[in-house]
Amino acid sequence: MSCIFCGIANGEVEAEVIGEGDRWIAFRDTNPQAPTHVLVVPREHIESLSALEESRTELAGELLRAAASMARQEGLEAGYRVVANTWSDGGQTVPHLHLHLLGGRKLRWPPG
Ligand code: AMP
Repeated sequence: MSCIFCGIANGEVEAEVIGEGDRWIAFRDTNPQAPTHVLVVPREHIESLSALEESRTELAGELLRAAASMARQEGLEAGYRVVANTWSDGGQTVPHLHLHLLGGRKLRWPPG
């Protein structure tokens, strides 16, 4: 199975990478919805938040900390939002778990 985010994680697909760790990679979204729109993605192929097993609890924490770290790096002192769109009603289009980090403008609530 070919997965675009697996391709980015293993360097086969180009992306604007802004940070990485042993178990995650962060890169800019190609269709940004805010001045800063970054995706934080585990290197391991996990389909969605719902597919995240108990054995990956530490990884889940690492992804959240990575998102906060990327927010600091991007200078989002005024605030930001972290979102995991999940399955079709949640608007998930890429079936590889990712956190959207959005910031750089006032974000509305609720989202559409
Ligand atoms: P979602 O709709 O929550 O699954 O989010 C998938 C996101 O991935 C969308 O915001 C897309 O714009 C973004 N995206 C898709 N392909 C790429 C890519 N090759 N590089 C960067 N972002 C991508």
